[in-house]
Amino acid sequence: MNNYSIAIHGGAGTILPSTMTAEKETAYKKGLEDAILAGEEILKAGGTSLDAVESAIRILEDNPLFNAGKGAVFTNSGTHELDSSIMNGKDLMAGAVAGVSNIKNPISLARAVMEQSEHVMLTGKGAMDFAKKVNAAIEPDDYFFVQMRYDQLQQAKESNTMILDHTEDKIENGEKKFGTVGCVALDVHGNLAGGTSTGGMTNKKFGRVGDSSIIGAGTYANNKTCAISCTGHGELFMRSVVAFDISCLMEYKGLSLKEACDLVVMDKLVKIGGEGGLIALDAKGNIELSFNSEGMYRASKKQNEALYIGIYK
Ligand code: ASP
Repeated sequence: MNNYSIAIHGGAGTILPSTMTAEKETAYKKGLEDAILAGEEILKAGGTSLDAVESAIRILEDNPLFNAGKGAVFTNSGTHELDSSIMNGKDLMAGAVAGVSNIKNPISLARAVMEQSEHVMLTGKGAMDFAKKVNAAIEPDDYFFVQMRYDQLQQAKESNTMILDHTEDKIENGEKKFGTVGCVALDVHGNLAGGTSTGGMTNKKFGRVGDSSIIGAGTYANNKTCAISCTGHGELFMRSVVAFDISCLMEYKGLSLKEACDLVVMDKLVKIGGEGGLIALDAKGNIELSFNSEGMYRASKKQNEALYIGIYK
């Protein structure tokens, strides 16, 4: 039996102590703690990393503080289009959904795509038909209405910008909008898994899809190397194929998890202006929580070690 490990993130960006209230900080920390402890329960009981990843992400999706599930940002047309993906490091099976609406827990639908279809990614109306077929929980539009997110859309429309959850641009009163969520886990059987879920960017148009639902960009897991979940400026993370790049640096160049994360997050991404971060876990249970932004909502827990929760640099 191996020792288990788990890490989660709730988005990275311009998160500064100066713009945070004590109540907000407590609420975010509690949200992270609830999610990681739920995942840990599963690992502690000998459950799979895949189950731990799904259950931790479901809790973050149900929490309106995070930009995923309930709390997802608005598109330009006032709807919600959710992206999510999950991958099993044991057999390299993967599932993803992109641009889906009204799905309560996109991570579970991504898992259903992996386990109950012969495909890896489903989008739009077809994904909805599949969701009905597998009895995924569906919620009315109202469920996804969160005032803070609506105000954010009005602001973005006024300035005619698409606001990434991570940028300070056009955001007043120090109010920063963060949220994409993710989890990576290693179970006692030695299997890695990773998953990511998001509402993407406020005011996004034209069916824009980010890295969160792209296997190899926002999510990747391979027992040979690592499990990764990213958060940041999706376009740059896609162009850099971030999650797979870290795995490749480990597999082909023999870099350690830390060396690979440092190179990709602190050097390669920075050079092309890719703001954000990621959580990473290797097959030995080493954890990296790397980000090149001001902060990243994050938490990690190794078997027999204390829970770590961090927000700022
Ligand atoms: N990476 C996500 C996207 O571009 C956003 C985020 O991480 O907050 O859709």
